[in-house]
Amino acid sequence: MKILVINSGSSSIKFQLFEMADESVLASGLIERIGEKKGHIKCILHPETGKERIIKRVELIVDHKSGMHRAVDILTDPDSGVISNSSDISAVGHRVVHGGETFHQPTPITDDVLAAIEKNIPLAPLHNPPNLDGILVARDLFPGAAQIAVFDTAFHQSIPPHAYHYALPYELYEKQRIRKYGFHGTSHKYVASECASQMGKLLEDLNLIPIHLGNGCSMTAIKNGRSVDTTLGLTPLEGLVMGTRSGDVDPAVHAYLARNCGMDIDSIDMMLNKESGLKGLCGMNDMRDIHDQIAAGNERARLALEVQTYRNRKYVGAYLAVLGRVDAIVFTAGIGENDGVVRAKTLEGLEPFGIILDPVVNNQRVREPLLLSSTESRIQVWGIPTNEELAIAREAKIVLG
Ligand code: ADP
Repeated sequence: MKILVINSGSSSIKFQLFEMADESVLASGLIERIGEKKGHIKCILHPETGKERIIKRVELIVDHKSGMHRAVDILTDPDSGVISNSSDISAVGHRVVHGGETFHQPTPITDDVLAAIEKNIPLAPLHNPPNLDGILVARDLFPGAAQIAVFDTAFHQSIPPHAYHYALPYELYEKQRIRKYGFHGTSHKYVASECASQMGKLLEDLNLIPIHLGNGCSMTAIKNGRSVDTTLGLTPLEGLVMGTRSGDVDPAVHAYLARNCGMDIDSIDMMLNKESGLKGLCGMNDMRDIHDQIAAGNERARLALEVQTYRNRKYVGAYLAVLGRVDAIVFTAGIGENDGVVRAKTLEGLEPFGIILDPVVNNQRVREPLLLSSTESRIQVWGIPTNEELAIAREAKIVLG
């Protein structure tokens, strides 16, 4: 069974084609700069095998539909393609960012589901519209394939009311659905399941704290396999310090900037999402550059690292309190998988809570699930590579039955 996974953004589409019999990747691709003069297409056929072939093109891609058409042409090329025609694909799994309160699990896409995703646009104005575009294009291009939506928010729908409510006038929840939703759910669920299988336990018997540290960052408290709290909120801005996003700030910052600096709501929103976080503190949002600058004596780079890892540690403490018993902490995503310094600083001083890293193992980059804690650590610490595309393909396969 072949499943295509599509992650459709405002000017880009990422895709991966899986052979689900052995979960191998037949092709992965990125179509970027859709709508610009010079669109970029990169497709890797049979990646990381002896047969790997990379195809790159720069050409005008007017819209998502024409981008996906080119991708299908590459995948079905009689000489080098990986499938004979588009009907070889049994299902298309779509990443959809915001499922609101409507969707608790991966869902086959019907007209009603499309309407519900559209209804959630005010909650994710930048993400849900391009996600919808991707679905419409795929319905057109793969009419015989099942279309399945996998929501970033779905895993967090088990969070109880006392954790998802903000202490705001209740009508804002009733009328506007303003509450914590959480994101990165597919990644948290995937690494939690991988961690359970590494530990030889059932996920429903485990309490875990996965920490996703990439450009976007979030942490989740998982009790008996279910999300009970998470750091991202109504939008993907709350909680941890991210590459360009602030994470938690005093909400009065908005009013202060409007009154004292003449900033309007759009520029404040842009500043908090695009000009803050690590970048706001030191001008760089890539952790590798930050380490280089720290080595060169740049104090602002050091501050950015300290602020991010302190916030991480504060939330680990919060989720230890939320969960009571914790079986494992899991680091994942670009920083979480690669950066032993951030991992060590995040867990620094938590030895009295039973969290002890093995300093030698923790110095390694995580290529496959790796136990990072020492044998005397009561709470295990794992590094587990996330794979959101594979997670979406697996979810789609389960929905297909
Ligand atoms: P996204 O959230 O966009 O999916 P990733 O999970 O790919 O992001 O993480 C990207 C970030 O990971 C980069 O911005 C960089 O800060 C960090 N990163 C990647 N490789 C390394 C590395 N070797 N050491 C430290 N940080 C890294």
